[in-house]
Amino acid sequence: MEPGELTERVKSLALAVGFDLVGVAAAEATPETEALRDWVAAGYAGEMDYLVRRVEERVDPRRVLEGARSVLAVGLCYDPGEPPATAGDSVGRVARYAGGEDYHDVVGDRLQALAAGIEALLERPVASRCYVDTGPVQERVFAARGGLGWIGKNTCLIHPTLGSYVFLGVLLSELPLIPDAPEPDHCGSCRACLDACPTDAFVDAYVLDARRCISYTTIEQRGEIPEALREGQGELVFGCDICQEVCPWNTRRGRPLPPDPLGLRERLRPRAEWVRPALRWILALDEEAWRAATRRSPLRRARYRGLLRNALVAAGNSGDAVLRPWVERHAEGEDSLLAEHARWALERLPG
Ligand code: SF4
Repeated sequence: MEPGELTERVKSLALAVGFDLVGVAAAEATPETEALRDWVAAGYAGEMDYLVRRVEERVDPRRVLEGARSVLAVGLCYDPGEPPATAGDSVGRVARYAGGEDYHDVVGDRLQALAAGIEALLERPVASRCYVDTGPVQERVFAARGGLGWIGKNTCLIHPTLGSYVFLGVLLSELPLIPDAPEPDHCGSCRACLDACPTDAFVDAYVLDARRCISYTTIEQRGEIPEALREGQGELVFGCDICQEVCPWNTRRGRPLPPDPLGLRERLRPRAEWVRPALRWILALDEEAWRAATRRSPLRRARYRGLLRNALVAAGNSGDAVLRPWVERHAEGEDSLLAEHARWALERLPG
């Protein structure tokens, strides 16, 4: 099959297995992938040692798969919308992507189906690797080069009509697929995301210091959350969407999401308990209840102790005296990390 027809057939397969977006980039090092070296050297990766360890693979995908020629980038929209306002209990908030089934499973499973579909199409084994946030490939960079959108000043990939609430995956392979044209940058003079970040995590437009980002401090960071960043965390207990929520490419709603015949968005839809989780519910979870509440969920990544730590910060920020007994329990507990965050919260709760 000649490359033009092969590319079209493979893209059709990607849409048939449930992806909303698909594009192709050449498997090669680019100025954007090479920028990772400086970013890591500046220390912006914080404790994410896995980024530091495999930088050279992240710079050039041919180091991941010898003989790789193309990167097929795919996208799946997931935006469940603004969580509803609540009255009564003080509640926390989790990032919009995190309340449903783990996207690694949903997107990863579809990528495997795509890889199998390609082999069936060509009637031969195809050397390939699939990644969704799980391997040494910079998905965003290849998605942008493959025309799925541009990387905004908030460092997210933004599609011109579907916005940035999109899971990305890549299929790196030996196939000589024809690259797409990249989408131009449409950020213009806007800087809404840079100004809205409550922890000043952007060193500059397009440059994030992960160590100050709430998505990093509440998920990746294992120890204490720096005091200077706690107030900015507000009610967030896992991740953050603020730089996406203010982006005009997300707020211009009204556009329909693509059809979802396989029910993938349904699987990603936040479970009721995580839409606006009551802080006292989180603070009262024991490890077994936490395990049940986070089964097959991306929330697991913060671990039990991390989620409680985050909820203690949110409790302190709530100013809700009703939470005192739930916070006091941790202030008097044996876990010194939780006890310190609980004492911090108690100083902010009246009574
Ligand atoms: Fe770009 Fe503005 Fe969106 Fe930031 S908020 S990513 S500057 S369009």
